[in-house]
Amino acid sequence: MRDIYRIEKQNGSDPQIKMYLNKITLSFTDLFEKDFRIKYFHDSLFQFRISFLVVTFLYAVFGYLDNRVTIEYTGLFHAIRFFVVIPLFLFVFLLSFCKCFIHIWQELLFICFIVGGTGITLMTVAIPLNYAYYLGLMLVFSAGYFFISLRFLLASIAGLITLILFNTGLIFFSSADSNLIFNNNFFFISANVIGMFAAYNIEYYKRRDFFLNIQLDNRNAEIAHVNRTLESKVDERTNELTISMKKAEESDRLKSAFLANMSHEIRTPLNGIIGFSELLADEAFEPEQKKEFIRHITTNGNNLLNIISDIMDISKIESGEIKIRCKKMNVKSWLENIHAVNQIKAKEKNLELKTFSPELESEKDVFVFADPERLFQVINNLISNALKFTSEGFIEIGYRLADEMVEFHVKDTGAGIPNEFYERIFERFRQVETSNTRSFGGNGLGLAISKNLVELMGGKIWVESEMGKGSTFYFALPKP
Ligand code: ADP
Repeated sequence: MRDIYRIEKQNGSDPQIKMYLNKITLSFTDLFEKDFRIKYFHDSLFQFRISFLVVTFLYAVFGYLDNRVTIEYTGLFHAIRFFVVIPLFLFVFLLSFCKCFIHIWQELLFICFIVGGTGITLMTVAIPLNYAYYLGLMLVFSAGYFFISLRFLLASIAGLITLILFNTGLIFFSSADSNLIFNNNFFFISANVIGMFAAYNIEYYKRRDFFLNIQLDNRNAEIAHVNRTLESKVDERTNELTISMKKAEESDRLKSAFLANMSHEIRTPLNGIIGFSELLADEAFEPEQKKEFIRHITTNGNNLLNIISDIMDISKIESGEIKIRCKKMNVKSWLENIHAVNQIKAKEKNLELKTFSPELESEKDVFVFADPERLFQVINNLISNALKFTSEGFIEIGYRLADEMVEFHVKDTGAGIPNEFYERIFERFRQVETSNTRSFGGNGLGLAISKNLVELMGGKIWVESEMGKGSTFYFALPKP
């Protein structure tokens, strides 16, 4: 549809849309023409039917004039009127109720114009001295050009043919003198020129109307589209804002919870350190008891150090300052080391710490590309959690080869994690809020740090769990 008009910038003013049509035939220069003709037909059908009834009626009424003015020709004239012209008009009128009419209606009107005009010509030729009859042609011209909805081009051709036929008849087949012919032509040519001019304008403005309406429809469609897009954008933005707001509220809530939790987490080891230090100074205690106090002070000091390290780590991760130095590591020996380090802690809780790997059977060494310090930190976090949340059973640490990755796991027989928390526990400060967690303590940073570290080393971390049966944390890291 856009081919029909082009958008042109005129002298820096607003772009103007131009209608392109053939100046002589008045046809649009592209596919638009087909649409216009269909619309023109439907818009004109009613007027055409009325006009044809009126024209047929008038053609018949003039039969009365035949009786009064041209008595000796009445038979011939009535034959022309009632056996040729009027039947043709009525036939075309009836045809207008058929579906096929849309394809042939202009051609039929064209023929009717010429036949109507030729009828008058015949009557005028038969009685050249009866001047009044040639006036009938004026009616034919006005009906043909303005009334019956014949398009400009066909109406003009039909008008000219009628004029030629009239002159031919009068010059060659009648005894009319040259003055009469000259005089008649004056009127007819003028009537034709005016008719053509008027028909041109009528059709031009109909086409323009059609064109502007389509443009209007296009604009409306564009506006509707823009409105729809705008509405969906507003909805989108509102949703985004709601989500951001919820996140901000949640983050605020988490931070408050974190601060409350933190003050408890820091206070507990600090109280322990201060309390046992005071007891150390008391001479009433035996050296054996004092040794126990020192052990407590060391444990609490380590706990405090862990908490502070976690806070430092998460802030380093968030500010992008953390440095990862990956290198090729032998997984087997590394795992043995981890097992040795954590076995004592497991024993303290009466838990068995197992290692498992399908690769352990083979003699082949398995290597991973990771930062040893950070890898230790991740597995340590997972083992600490497993120890914390498991009261009986075992903890298993291991690995297996999976495509281009080495997949580690830490499995426990603890309380388990509800699946709606599978993703969320990896967010900072996030804890599964059960009385269990509260009683076990913790700051909700361990898994967030682990996830960030694993991702920084090019891997991923996830959890699978069954409530009441235990959880397995997995993380996969690339092979060198
Ligand atoms: P913290 O353990 O200090 O609370 P983490 O980020 O390490 O913080 O863990 C977040 C939460 O995930 C824990 O509070 C706990 O609710 C849950 N969680 C982590 N590991 C386990 C596990 N092995 N079994 C059950 N719950 C776990």
